[in-house]
Amino acid sequence: MQSSRRDFLAAAASAAGAAAAGDLPARADDDPAHSHGHTHDHAHQAVPSDMALRVKSLESLLVEKGVVDRAALDALVDAYEHKIGPRNGAQVVARAWADPAYKQRLLADADKAIAELGFGGQQGEHMLVVENTPSVHNMVVCTLCSCYPWPVLGLPPVWYKSAPYRSRSVIDPRGVLREFGLELSDDVEVRVWDSTAELRYLVLPERPAGTEGLSEAELTALVTRDAMIGVAKVSPRSGGAA
Ligand code: FE
Repeated sequence: MQSSRRDFLAAAASAAGAAAAGDLPARADDDPAHSHGHTHDHAHQAVPSDMALRVKSLESLLVEKGVVDRAALDALVDAYEHKIGPRNGAQVVARAWADPAYKQRLLADADKAIAELGFGGQQGEHMLVVENTPSVHNMVVCTLCSCYPWPVLGLPPVWYKSAPYRSRSVIDPRGVLREFGLELSDDVEVRVWDSTAELRYLVLPERPAGTEGLSEAELTALVTRDAMIGVAKVSPRSGGAA
């Protein structure tokens, strides 16, 4: 491990410990004793969050012990951040719309059907596809943390990981959907699916009317990430949204 990284972790951990013990003011600039020999024309770095510190410490230990290779970790993060995203899921949805036999396979065994299109891997080992119909609307949440089907949707959006979404989706799903701009009539049943580490859900949205003549590629372009989480419908003019 590089000494600079070790120094950073040691300093950050000590700062966090001091903050936890109440030794630090809320902001360093508020501290009258904070005059360490220079004027304050620079911004002070905020102490990383507890979770960020834990992740950094864990990563450093694993690298130090040779369990993981930092370059491999970077490549993995880059792949899920930049290369794998909701366009994979959009292809799955469009194929299901265009090919009734594929849709049946997808609903019966999502893992196998998704693998037919070449998608699979971490955080997508066990998936279930739930179909929206005119009378049933499905939405997905992870009440515990942020379980999410990475191979088809990429990394979860910030709001998906937020405490309000995680709690309110269960208590008041219609209210949450309304805030996303989706108003469902009372005769539509709303089903909320709680993702876990063992099982992740993908919503198969309704194919919008007026798209009968579109090619599979054109259909793919209409499907949004939010529609596959179940907080939006697919519009015949929407699309391309991450
Ligand atoms: Fe989770």
